[in-house]
Amino acid sequence: MSTERPQADPASPATIIPRPDHNVSRQQISPNALKVLYRLSNAGFQAYLVGGGVRDLLLGREPKDFDVATDALPEEVHDLFRNSRLIGRRFRLVHVRYGQEIIEVSTFRALHGEDDEHPERHLDDSGRILRDNVFGSLAEDAFRRDFTVNALYYNIADFSVVDHVDGVRDLRDGVLRLIGDPDLRFREDPVRMLRAVRFAAKLGFRIEPRTAKVIPDLSDLLRDIPPARLFEEVLKLFLGGYAAQTFEELLRHDLFRQLFPFTEEALAHEENAFPLTFVAKALENTDARVAEGRPVTPFFLFAVLLWEPVRRRAEVLESQGMNPSEAMRVAADEICERQLQYVALPRRFSTPMREVWQLQPRFENRSGKRAQRLLAHPRFRAAYDFLVLRAETGEADPDLAAHWTRLQEGDADEQRALLSQPAPKTGKRRRRGGRRRTSGNPGGE
Ligand code: ATP
Ligand code: MG
Repeated sequence: MSTERPQADPASPATIIPRPDHNVSRQQISPNALKVLYRLSNAGFQAYLVGGGVRDLLLGREPKDFDVATDALPEEVHDLFRNSRLIGRRFRLVHVRYGQEIIEVSTFRALHGEDDEHPERHLDDSGRILRDNVFGSLAEDAFRRDFTVNALYYNIADFSVVDHVDGVRDLRDGVLRLIGDPDLRFREDPVRMLRAVRFAAKLGFRIEPRTAKVIPDLSDLLRDIPPARLFEEVLKLFLGGYAAQTFEELLRHDLFRQLFPFTEEALAHEENAFPLTFVAKALENTDARVAEGRPVTPFFLFAVLLWEPVRRRAEVLESQGMNPSEAMRVAADEICERQLQYVALPRRFSTPMREVWQLQPRFENRSGKRAQRLLAHPRFRAAYDFLVLRAETGEADPDLAAHWTRLQEGDADEQRALLSQPAPKTGKRRRRGGRRRTSGNPGGE
């Protein structure tokens, strides 16, 4: 294994792009981030905007949040801001809070030497960084960041951009390149593989071939990452507005199965044109909602991602004589228990997720008291949206979905009429293998 970092030479001079030669303007930086930068600077510290904020501004995009890098120690930063908190142990930094907005301030980190035995730096046997609190210079800090385009620094002292890693070139070329030796850097933190895919999808960049090549060989290392951290990462992957593209890239780079192995297994089944469509379609909807500024919820996302293995398992249990509702509950129990070993899901999300599944068989009751109760269920709306998705992708009966659309859109009289209809005995659930309605039955109804 190569241990060198071809580009990692903090001693070589950085490229400084002066203010007139770049497009980052203070007007685009959040006032709170500017406040943090100026206060650090006025106290005699170096202060830079770094990471996604600089990257996105250089690309003419609106940053999601702003990160600051400084030579002030975490305690010194904390002392400067009453509204701040020291956080992290593995990686100590400071959060400065202004209402909803958090500015993350990190102290320059030193580079790792090969046989480094510093007590504040700790690697495990696989080369994973367990702790990294050795402080250094800006130049060193640049080289321990993940991608070249994430290692650009905007200097509040003279408004220049500092580039140690040819990040500006990669930004211009649309290339996502891990700094240094990809094998080593992915081993240091396997989550960087997920970050690669996330940024590539979001920015429309291609992952540089040397970086991409090692991913399938190293993807197993994600097994060592705590499920709670992967939960956070999954939210960023799928709720960031680029989920459909991200999903494709995760599959392509053999990463999806590290997160959702049971889903991957279920999707890989032969007769499976539609479940893939179901997930893809749902993710497209999610992206559209994000684009419109409408809320998206983790529980619905997980309900989508885990549906195929749950549905399949429930089908088996039903074929063994369990009633649909019981089968759904048991299947959900089984899949959740196994899945949680990979990606955590806090109970406040797993409970409504399971309700969405549990309500699916109940849609078969089209009228009468049961239908009325379902309509009044607090989780009805999410479960209905889920049913519509299933119907749109050929797995549930479109007539059934249309019936529930009419029911909830109708006024009180229409509702009463629909609810008092005798239950048709044809309302059997469509099974796997059912064709997409769009081709077989134009018009649906
Ligand atoms: P966004 O906030 O838009 O998702 P970002 O690039 O700002 O993207 P953050 O997670 O906010 O990502 O991290 C801020 C910066 O910290 C990154 O740009 C990168 O320089 C550095 N960084 C974050 N995570 C890692 C990591 N796992 N390894 C190395 N550097 C990292
Ligand atoms: Mg950021």
